[in-house]
Amino acid sequence: MKKNCLKNIKISCILASFLIFFTLFSCFFNCKNVFAESQYYYTSNVEHIFTHCLIAYSDLAFESKTHMSKNYLTDCITSKEFILILNELYKNNYALVDINSCFKIDENGIASKCKIKVPKGKKPLIFSFDDVNYDSKKIGLGMVDKIILDENGNLASSTKYKNQQDIRYDLEFIPILENFIKKHPDFSINGAKGLINLTGYDGILGYRTSHTNTLNRQEETKQAQEVVNKLKQNGWQFASHSYGHYHMNKISDEKFLKEVELWQAEVEPIVGKTKIYVYPYGEWCVFSNGEICKKHKILQQAGFSLFCGVGMKTFYNHLPSKNHKVLFMDRKCVDGRTLGANRPELHSLFNPLSVLDSARPKN
Ligand SMILES: [Zn+2]
Repeated sequence: MKKNCLKNIKISCILASFLIFFTLFSCFFNCKNVFAESQYYYTSNVEHIFTHCLIAYSDLAFESKTHMSKNYLTDCITSKEFILILNELYKNNYALVDINSCFKIDENGIASKCKIKVPKGKKPLIFSFDDVNYDSKKIGLGMVDKIILDENGNLASSTKYKNQQDIRYDLEFIPILENFIKKHPDFSINGAKGLINLTGYDGILGYRTSHTNTLNRQEETKQAQEVVNKLKQNGWQFASHSYGHYHMNKISDEKFLKEVELWQAEVEPIVGKTKIYVYPYGEWCVFSNGEICKKHKILQQAGFSLFCGVGMKTFYNHLPSKNHKVLFMDRKCVDGRTLGANRPELHSLFNPLSVLDSARPKN
């Protein structure tokens, strides 16, 4: 009797072990399969679009007819347009990706494009934002004044508007994108947000961190640092957009070197090192008479490896000679001009005419 009982227990134990082993095995196999099926290698060129700081207060930007109105009209988009564009991009299955995951640098310092894994059904997209300094000369003309951390530590915009401090989450691209991704987490691949391209001549993000501020530079830099820390923690990336936003061919090599050094002295300590250089006006000089241009050498020596221009093609390759391996990425411009012109290159991303803000003056 006792022997039979022991035998039964033994058999039960063996069966239970098999069952556990089988369950674990099938679970592992299924999980592996789900993972394999849920992601794929994206081998085409990654789309890269860019715009500037948004027109936050249309009444100030357009109705007041200031010297900036015309520029805003052609070079910028409004907050409303940005929100509509995000919705369309999301509907068309785009998702933001970290630009740094799209290229690699070998032991010789040569950058090359790499394949990235994205969730099935998604197309990777880099969205970058130029000149995010909120130039002091433009204060009160329709853009926000600065990016701040609110009392709960969340990113917001702050602007002196109609004699009040207007703290908002729906007017500038940073808080808008933060909240859009909270609502649609699958619009961000591995937590990526946008790429912020900074000059340095009048500070960054609305803080006067440049040496030209002799009043309260230290305090401004401290505040800028806190905002940048939060941005980095939330998945935003940074690139250099030159220090003074000069036309590349209009300054000497010596002046260009000083420019690069100033950016590294004033902006890099706040945002950290970056491998990405975004040409002001999309103007670049890599080769001249078969030689690498001095200005390009300066950029390479400063540690930049991926160079971003402006163009409506999705260009992402080595330029202009394969032997020299300079990795170059074009960006499609999203502004009043390209929306109004209904540029066909934007059609795979969103419908330009359907996002146009009715607040734009007709003439
Ligand atoms: Zn610019």
